[in-house]
Amino acid sequence: MPASTAAISDKLGIAARRFDIDVLASCDSTNAVLLSRAEAGAPSGTVIIAEEQTAGRGRRGRQWFASPGDSLTFSLLWRFAPDTAPAGLSLAVGVGVANALLKVGAGNTALKWPNDILKDGRKLGGILVELVPGAPHAAVIGIGINLRLPAGMPEDVRATSTAICAANDVMDQNDVYAAVLLELLATLESFATGGFAAIRPEWMAHHAFQDAAISLLSDFSAPRTGICRGVGSDGALLLEVDGRVERILSGEISLRPA
Ligand code: ATP
Repeated sequence: MPASTAAISDKLGIAARRFDIDVLASCDSTNAVLLSRAEAGAPSGTVIIAEEQTAGRGRRGRQWFASPGDSLTFSLLWRFAPDTAPAGLSLAVGVGVANALLKVGAGNTALKWPNDILKDGRKLGGILVELVPGAPHAAVIGIGINLRLPAGMPEDVRATSTAICAANDVMDQNDVYAAVLLELLATLESFATGGFAAIRPEWMAHHAFQDAAISLLSDFSAPRTGICRGVGSDGALLLEVDGRVERILSGEISLRPA
């Protein structure tokens, strides 16, 4: 069944009034569309779902592969109170998505700092949080989830990806959209009152690389290798190198098993 505002709202029940959901047949990137709507004053809870995304974005301008019917691609605008610290928001979102995936029967997923959802070591989804220019307490939360692996996905990306459904499974994508929005509502409310510290224990319970040897790759410096000790209450990655724990806050880093 195609994505539909009516179907999702029906499944959201009373929580439907917290969201304003718009399904677009096609757009360049749901984050780009929602960022401009946010700048024009769109309310908190605005959701843009795209059946087709022609220029889906990952971090650092990397491409996110999706195809109509196979991929969930959407963005949610959330406006926080002025005293909310945004640190750790994309990690908090990962917890909400993981909880939703469990509820829709997609099984246990794991989280990779800062923004990937993994299943059996492969990427099932990604998160891209962008702050709205000129409105520092508003965030556009972009999420891509593979319902099935998109047809046009290059072989090298396919080799490290996975999807909710096996090839012939049938699943109503509206169930997944509704579950993710409901879980995000709970997670974002908890984030708004307690910051990432309130969600960190759950994040740690889902952490894919706890106490594992990892490498951190950056475009700007040599790889760093150490033991991954999870994240701090501000969302910083904790990397133990020669017995000392370093805090890494930059999101411009890719984590790999060493
Ligand atoms: P990495 O996962 O390599 O650490 P990253 O977290 O920095 O990368 P993101 O910007 O989050 O990467 O996502 C973009 C990358 O994810 C792409 O470069 C590609 O390797 C991979 N990718 C793109 N589309 C998908 C998809 N639908 N499913 C899984 N992985 C994808």
